[in-house]
Amino acid sequence: MTEETAAAKRVLLEAKDVSFRYGSGPWILRNVYLKIYEGERVGLVGPSGYGKSTLSRILSGYEKPTKGQVLWKGAPLPKEGYCPLQMIYQHPEKAVNPRWRLQDTLNEAWTPDDELLAALRINKELWFRRWPNELSGGELQRFCVARVLGPQTEFIIADEMSTMLDAITQAQIWNVLLDVARKRGLGMLVITHSMALAEKVCTRIVDLAELNMVGHDA
Ligand code: ADP
Ligand code: MG
Repeated sequence: MTEETAAAKRVLLEAKDVSFRYGSGPWILRNVYLKIYEGERVGLVGPSGYGKSTLSRILSGYEKPTKGQVLWKGAPLPKEGYCPLQMIYQHPEKAVNPRWRLQDTLNEAWTPDDELLAALRINKELWFRRWPNELSGGELQRFCVARVLGPQTEFIIADEMSTMLDAITQAQIWNVLLDVARKRGLGMLVITHSMALAEKVCTRIVDLAELNMVGHDA
């Protein structure tokens, strides 16, 4: 992005001098600066263990940075109410309560319209009465994608979202997400170890090894 377009566009999500360590362990993130502008889909790549998932949890507000700040539209993330940033995880069972039927998980968020359900091949009658463990991994992930696309969602963080899926399901989920992202102007941060996927779906790619000035072994 040129200076000019960067200046004209609004910053949606920003990591400002973010450092992080688990307890008194080694520093995982060191002085990370990242700005994500309106309309961008940013791919975050980097070797395993370098802190991509940690950074994604910090950016979505699930984890507090040890030092530094995360800003959403220039202010700290809202502490109450629906979070405009939603996460999709590699393992969908982490995103749902195992003791709630899918219907009850949805009631908490929103009810997807028929068009979205059809695009994600979600069988409402059959699935919504079930418990999460009564769906296959791919089915549950499709459900989780529908669940985070509520009207109040403005930004999606997808952490290795399609890594465990077969190629067809992977393509279907990405088609739906990109379609919704374009129609509604959703921002995205896509964490993946697949450069091919990042190049296909993202407008910009950043390497955590470069963002992290010191890096994993320091
Ligand atoms: P990536 O997603 O890039 O593979 P992670 O963010 O999952 O990396 O992990 C970064 C580093 O933090 C790894 O060395 C990992 O072992 C460590 N780590 C992750 N979660 C915890 C935790 N809860 N407690 C302590 N160390 C952790
Ligand atoms: Mg990870």
